[in-house]
Amino acid sequence: MLDRKHYDVAILGGGPGGTSAAITLAQAGVSVVVCERSHYQENRVGEMLSPGICPLLVELGQWERFIQAGHLASPGIICCWGSSQPYENEFIFNPYGSGWHIDRCNFDRSLALAAKEAGAIVCLNTLVVGVNYEAGGWNISMRRGGELTNLRADFLIHASGRSQFSPVSPAIFATQKMYVDSLVGVAQFFHHIPNPAIDDRRTLIEATAQGWWYSAQLPRGKAIAVLMTDRDLLPVKRRDLQAYWQKNLLTTVYTKERVNTWYPVKQLHIYDACTARQDYFSGQQWLAVGDAAATYDPLSAQGIMKAISNGISAARAIIESGMSHVCSFPDYHGSLTTSFAEYMKERQLYYAQERRWENNFFWQRRQANIMHPYPKSANYFIQLH
Ligand SMILES: Cc1cc2nc3c(=O)[nH]c(=O)nc-3n(C[C@H](O)[C@H](O)[C@H](O)COP(=O)(O)OP(=O)(O)OC[C@H]3O[C@@H](n4cnc5c(N)ncnc54)[C@H](O)[C@@H]3O)c2cc1C
Repeated sequence: MLDRKHYDVAILGGGPGGTSAAITLAQAGVSVVVCERSHYQENRVGEMLSPGICPLLVELGQWERFIQAGHLASPGIICCWGSSQPYENEFIFNPYGSGWHIDRCNFDRSLALAAKEAGAIVCLNTLVVGVNYEAGGWNISMRRGGELTNLRADFLIHASGRSQFSPVSPAIFATQKMYVDSLVGVAQFFHHIPNPAIDDRRTLIEATAQGWWYSAQLPRGKAIAVLMTDRDLLPVKRRDLQAYWQKNLLTTVYTKERVNTWYPVKQLHIYDACTARQDYFSGQQWLAVGDAAATYDPLSAQGIMKAISNGISAARAIIESGMSHVCSFPDYHGSLTTSFAEYMKERQLYYAQERRWENNFFWQRRQANIMHPYPKSANYFIQLH
């Protein structure tokens, strides 16, 4: 519940990026409000965490809660990439222990709870519908339970994720988004009957001619399998999607084996998974964190960790500026720029290892690391819905 109309910082979006910023700010005594459109009730994708999540959650004071939340420890990743022979990346020598397959809604909800406990105001079921800058601060308009309401804040943290219909018009920040690809994930959730004797808790990644697959068991008897491919390689008609997905699954060797033991629930869902970045990550009285700043190929499994790390850094940048209204946070912008450039190099190296389908569009496109500084066409969004 809003207890007043003016806050030091307003955060748009209560995913891992937004809530990590809120925890850090609230712990430092800054007044902060998080506006989150959901109740964390719907399935979310982004389920794999590498062991490196540990120090970030320790920093937020959330490690104990995390390990008691019933997420599944994962010993490693099996990759069928670059050759038909699978190889394993084990976490056994990692100083932080295992990786994790998480219940994503539960994970996001518990970070929101932690923000509330630290003193942030967390408004759920609150859709931000408009943002504008006026008289030295931000006006934020929101819809909550059918009613329009608004608040003011000195600083804005943009954390609304990949959201195709962002409440923040690019003109406000004078930024432009640059795209590297048009990757999408076609996801199917499953039930499986947990059996500790035979369950394989490793993530499986398997390349095919049309893209690649990842699959994993999740907590509470759930599982997921996702075909990653380019948007324009999907069938034009939505009704042909299931057959396309099944046909592609049959071209795998290992994924189909594990998926055949699971029971599908719900329909296939298409998620935007492209690599892209804003040209500016911060400016006067605002910062962008997580997917609202830059989006990463799920192959890297870095999105959640980057969002949390950005959230913490953005909060610190505001605190360290002494709440200055004239600072545009150049160090924050610089560090995200460097991090994205490093990711792009790793992305190219990884895709270059797969040479089995060099004549196929999906793989050809990934041999070139080119950024396209143009907005996506309206058709792009229509097809995703
Ligand atoms: C198919 C796929 C697989 C992935 N797999 C992995 C993985 O294995 N590991 C990994 O680390 N990452 C993975 N990712 C990436 C990861 O999910 C994201 O990087 C991560 O969720 C980013 O966190 P965020 O807080 O920036 O954004 P989000 O998690 O998207 O959170 C944004 C929040 O803002 C809210 N919101 C949006 N618009 C509004 C609005 N107008 N008003 C109010 N609230 C709003 C949303 O409800 C949401 O809660 C995957 C992504 C995809 C697409």
